[in-house]
Amino acid sequence: MDKDTIWQNFLNIIRSKLTSLPFDTWFKGTKLYELDNGIAKVIVPMHVHKKHLNDNYIDLIVETFNEVTGTNFEFQFILEEEINVKKKQISNNDNIGVPYNDPIQANLNTKYIFDNFIVGESNFFAHAAAVSVAENPGKAYNPLFIYGNSGLGKTHLMHAIGNYIVKNTNKKVLYVTSEKFVSDFLNLTKRDSNGTNYDYIEYFKDKYRNIDVLIIDDIQMLSGAPASQQEFFHTFNDLYDDNKQIIISSDRSPDDLKLLEERLVTRFNWGLKVNIYPPDYELRINILKKKMINRDLSKTITNDVLEYVANNFQADVRQLEGALTRIYAYATMFNVPKINLDVAIEALKDYLNKSLSLKNDIHRIQKTVAEFYKVRVDDLKSNRRTYEISYPRQVAMYLSRKLTDESFIKIGMEFGGKNHSTVIHACDKIERDIKCNKEIKNMIDNLIQQLK
Ligand code: ADP
Ligand code: MG
Repeated sequence: MDKDTIWQNFLNIIRSKLTSLPFDTWFKGTKLYELDNGIAKVIVPMHVHKKHLNDNYIDLIVETFNEVTGTNFEFQFILEEEINVKKKQISNNDNIGVPYNDPIQANLNTKYIFDNFIVGESNFFAHAAAVSVAENPGKAYNPLFIYGNSGLGKTHLMHAIGNYIVKNTNKKVLYVTSEKFVSDFLNLTKRDSNGTNYDYIEYFKDKYRNIDVLIIDDIQMLSGAPASQQEFFHTFNDLYDDNKQIIISSDRSPDDLKLLEERLVTRFNWGLKVNIYPPDYELRINILKKKMINRDLSKTITNDVLEYVANNFQADVRQLEGALTRIYAYATMFNVPKINLDVAIEALKDYLNKSLSLKNDIHRIQKTVAEFYKVRVDDLKSNRRTYEISYPRQVAMYLSRKLTDESFIKIGMEFGGKNHSTVIHACDKIERDIKCNKEIKNMIDNLIQQLK
């Protein structure tokens, strides 16, 4: 077993031992970095994870890891940055002039590769573009801009490009989320006022400019961060002028990125834009079949189960995977040897209800928001523009986007036939408000709690 598989097996067991909130909070986003001399080094997302995992979960972790590996390991929790800094020191000292490129350095998830990305009609073009960029970085299409709803495989494709390049060339690749870019950039300005930031400026420049391929995920998150956008603009220009490959993803097309600087959007349109669509039935079935291969083969799963899942989880691939995981967890827990339709229906009962009640539930959101602000649902659907109406309307649109899988277009339709750009504007606005106003954030959190 390689370390990714070990960790995946470990996480699967942990997931079955915990409820989803602690699991999602403390274990999601962790990965096994290395096993060295009886010590398991695990990468965690934030500082708080180190302490919390040590204080609260260490026994469970050691015991579960023993179940998977048959050995007791000591655990060390580290941040990704700490490895990067360490590696950089090593490569600076020992390998001057030798390009370093490996998945960890590049921040790539080695699980996401082309081999396990299933192609169908809805993602055919995106996949083809990704492959050609992977084969000719900096030459085929620059930038490559991949957009579509959440859960459709954008991140998977971007990692696949990165992994391919790292494996087949000695180019330096960097994958970051836009949030990471913003936080790196904020560190830059923070230290600036102390006057002690020279090292960090160098580090930042080196990290973002001294590379051959920059992959930046969920660029829509740069909205509301004008200073970071400017920095990104310069980064983009530098890389682009040097024929370095830039790959960008977003939940909407460049033209709908209303809160980004125009000059950035213009550049996004220079290369190739590819839209990735929700999977059709055939693709859903093929993905399920592929994902099954990676699971417990001793449990057979009947075809009607696959059809049932494919029919009930249509919106995105993440949901499909979630359904399959649940079925297997259920079968393991109750020791079911053969997964038939009855088992699947039972296993997915709550999951399906939950996703059904969240999905398509714009009406419930409208009702809750209307009650909260003491307006009528009809007002939300009307064209009235007074603040007392328009603000709740924007909140309801934002929540509809956040809590359901509906597109901007569908949400617009549910609000009396508004244009999708009105919905985008509303979502952007509320997102900005949440970022800069604590009261509004609390209010929205409160509404989300009510809706859940
Ligand atoms: P996005 O970034 O668009 O929100 P992700 O790339 O995170 O979506 O995909 C969500 C999950 O679905 C991931 O686990 C990914 O591996 C899986 N997935 C999406 N599309 C495919 C596909 N075509 N083949 C295999 N797995 C897929
Ligand atoms: Mg993504």
